[in-house]
Amino acid sequence: MILKPKQHEGIGMTSQRTRDRLISRLHDRGIRNKQVLQALRVTPRHLFVDEALASRAYEDTALPIGHKQTISQPYVVACMTEAVLQGGVLEKVLEVGTGSGYQAAVLSGLVERVYTVERIEALYQQARKRAMQLGLRNIQFKLSDGSWGWESYAPYDAVVVTAASDEIPSALIDQLADNGRLVIPVGQPSGAQDLLLLHKNGNQVEQENLGSVSFVPLVQGNVFT
Ligand code: SAH
Repeated sequence: MILKPKQHEGIGMTSQRTRDRLISRLHDRGIRNKQVLQALRVTPRHLFVDEALASRAYEDTALPIGHKQTISQPYVVACMTEAVLQGGVLEKVLEVGTGSGYQAAVLSGLVERVYTVERIEALYQQARKRAMQLGLRNIQFKLSDGSWGWESYAPYDAVVVTAASDEIPSALIDQLADNGRLVIPVGQPSGAQDLLLLHKNGNQVEQENLGSVSFVPLVQGNVFT
C-alpha cells in the first residue's frame, strides 16, 4: 500500500517541525548518537498510536495503545537504542514486547534484521500490518511469550526488552552473542524500575544501571489471543 502524503508527512501537530522539536529535546536530554536521533526523526510515531492520540505523538511521553499497554516514551526508546548500539554495527536484534511496533521500526533503520515477539495477538497483528504499510521489510514478528527469546534466530547481537521483569529471563542471556548487549527494565512492575544494560563478555556478564524507568510488566506464560 502507498501511504497518502497527508498520512505520511503529517500535518499540524504531526508536521516535520513538531517532530524536529522532539528530536532537539532528546538531544538536550543527552541523546548524542546522530544515527539514533535521525532514526527517531524519520519514524512517524503518529502512525503507531490511535488517530485520536496522533496530535500527542511527538510529545516526549508514553501513550496508551489499548490492552492496558503503552507505546514507550521517545526518550526511553532513544536511550535503549543508543545503549545497544554502543557495540557498533549490529546484525541481528531481538525485541521482547512489540507493542505498537514503534521501537522495532526505529531499530529497523539502524540494524540489519529485527526479530520482535509479542504475547497479545491484536497488538502483534496491528504491528505487522503497520510495518508492511511502511515498507519495513527487515522486521520479523512472532506471537509468543518472549521471555523464552526466539531460539531459531539466536544468537543476537543485542536484545531489547520493553517490559519490566523482577529478574532477567535466562534464555535472553543465553541467546545473546558473545560481546552482545541486552537492555531491560528490572524491578517491581508497578514501581520504579532500573534500566539495566548487560554486556556479555565470554562467560562474564557486566552490568550497568542506566537510570530509573517505568514500564508495563513482562507477563510470562500463556499468550493472549
Ligand atoms: N516496544 C513497544 C512498547 C511496548 S509495551 C512499543 O514500541 O510500542 C510492552 C509490550 O510487551 C506490550 O505490548 C506487552 O503485551 C508485551 N509483553 C509483555 N510481556 C510479554 C512477554 N512475556 N512476551 C512478549 N511480549 C510481552
